[in-house]
Amino acid sequence: RAKAAGKNRYHVFDREGDAPELERLRLENELREAAANGELELFYQPVYSLELGRAVGMEALLRWNHPRRGTMLPGQFIPMAEETGLIVPVGRWVLEEAVRQAREWERSLPAGAAPMVGVNLSLRQFQNPGLVEHVARLLRESGLDPSLLTLEITESVAMHDVPATVEILERLNAMGVWLVIDDFGTGNSSIAYVGSRFRMNHLKLDGTFVREFLDDPENPTILPGLIDFAHTVGLRVIAEGVETRGQFERLRELGCEFVQGYYVAPPLPAGEATKLLAGRIPLFGGEPPR
Ligand code: C2E
Ligand code: MG
Ligand code: MG
Ligand code: MG
Repeated sequence: RAKAAGKNRYHVFDREGDAPELERLRLENELREAAANGELELFYQPVYSLELGRAVGMEALLRWNHPRRGTMLPGQFIPMAEETGLIVPVGRWVLEEAVRQAREWERSLPAGAAPMVGVNLSLRQFQNPGLVEHVARLLRESGLDPSLLTLEITESVAMHDVPATVEILERLNAMGVWLVIDDFGTGNSSIAYVGSRFRMNHLKLDGTFVREFLDDPENPTILPGLIDFAHTVGLRVIAEGVETRGQFERLRELGCEFVQGYYVAPPLPAGEATKLLAGRIPLFGGEPPR
């Protein structure tokens, strides 16, 4: 009887449509415990300054080392975390860990070599009333120079509730952290908005957008125009998703300030990022462009 019930259950759960839902519930419960179980990890991807010729930033990118599924990328669990609200505690863990690491780099690296550490914020996190105070507390308690922390929000997050965004960014700006508009080019926000109303510091051009327009002979002025306009309103430009030397060189010609992408370096575990910052692992896979 038990066996029959078990078998039946197996069939029910295995039916198409049911299993993914259960798996999702299971994942949700597991994510609740992931930070406490030590399964969350931040990788760091260098942000390269074309002006200085070295990595000046590290973007923190979340990984979940899941006991059954192996390493999971944000795309595999952030949407669920956002829908369930779990992104708030997970995001708090990310901020704390990123600030801890930033402070460790600030302490251990020679003056001037400490990178700005970038943290991605999703909608629920950004809207969470405790965010600003949490950032303030982490800065106070760690002693981290606020200019070594950058916060990234996407266009859609920024545009969700413009007056609220203006107020939150105002308060973060007053603390001295850097603000980045992420994935620019994928939504409908205007550069004028981003630069003046939101008082963002950096505009990060989305990777797909960069690659599409750099390689598109039909639209040769889109990217140059965008970069020029960003500069006009006081934004410095980061191009993300740069994969080839050709793209890198074009972006340099266009006056882009920073570049990020597999061509420069992939996201790295903290230990390797530390070696890279200390000059013990080369950028560009050891074959720098001239
Ligand atoms: P993002 O902030 O736009 O991050 C850039 C993504 O592009 C990263 O994916 C990175 O690994 C990938 N990437 C870097 N260089 C290249 C390249 O040359 N070519 C291509 N095709 N891709 C490249 P990842 O790590 O899977 O993260 C995906 C997204 O998940 C991030 O996009 C960000 O929106 C979100 N995310 C990551 N970590 C966190 C986090 O701690 N909190 C929140 N709320 N979101 C996060
Ligand atoms: Mg980002
Ligand atoms: Mg991005
Ligand atoms: Mg992107």
